[in-house]
Amino acid sequence: MKCIICHGEDIKITEVKEELPIGNDIVYIPVSVPVCKTCGERYYDRRTMQFLEGIELNLPNTKTGLKEVGKVLMYEARPSV
Ligand SMILES: [Zn+2]
Repeated sequence: MKCIICHGEDIKITEVKEELPIGNDIVYIPVSVPVCKTCGERYYDRRTMQFLEGIELNLPNTKTGLKEVGKVLMYEARPSV
């Protein structure tokens, strides 16, 4: 398998965290997908796509199966102009 972006051949199954924003929250969804080690492109098979699409559809309503693993904080100060 060659990467369609960079044509690299170093593609390995890697556990990645998909980020799904829900309101001000972000839900991490761990999935194992082939990742190009050269450019970082991720390759999703159909089963993984359907898995993620199902979560994207249902999670904003159900919000089940979640555990809190951290907080998302925003820095308040802006750079002075
Ligand atoms: Zn690549």
